[in-house]
Amino acid sequence: QNYATVLSVNFTGENNGHSLQINVPPFRYFVNGGGLLGNFTTAQFHLHWGSSDSKGSEHKIDGKQYAAEIHFVSFNVKYADLSTAANESDGLAVLGAFLEVEWAF
Ligand SMILES: [Zn+2]
Repeated sequence: QNYATVLSVNFTGENNGHSLQINVPPFRYFVNGGGLLGNFTTAQFHLHWGSSDSKGSEHKIDGKQYAAEIHFVSFNVKYADLSTAANESDGLAVLGAFLEVEWAF
C-alpha cells in the first residue's frame, strides 16, 4: 500500500559494507496479504549486484542468475522498529525482484 505515493522527504542512502541501502521512513508504505500474517511496513530497500550483467542476484530461478536483485524489507507493525522485529519469527517480510540489464544503442 502507498508504493505509488511520493513522499516529500529525503531518504537516507548508505553503503552498508556490502550493498547500497536506502532507509525509508516506516509506517508510510505497507505490505500485507499474499499469505503474510499481519501488516508490514517497509523500512528499507537494498540491492545485490555482481561484477557482470549475467550475475549478481542473490537468488536464481531455474538456475538463472540476474544482473541484480532488489529487496524491500518490511517489519510487522506489531513491533516498534526493524531491529526489534528482526529478532522475531514473524517480524520481517522481504519482497525481492530481479533486475536485468538491457542495452539500447
Ligand atoms: Zn538482501
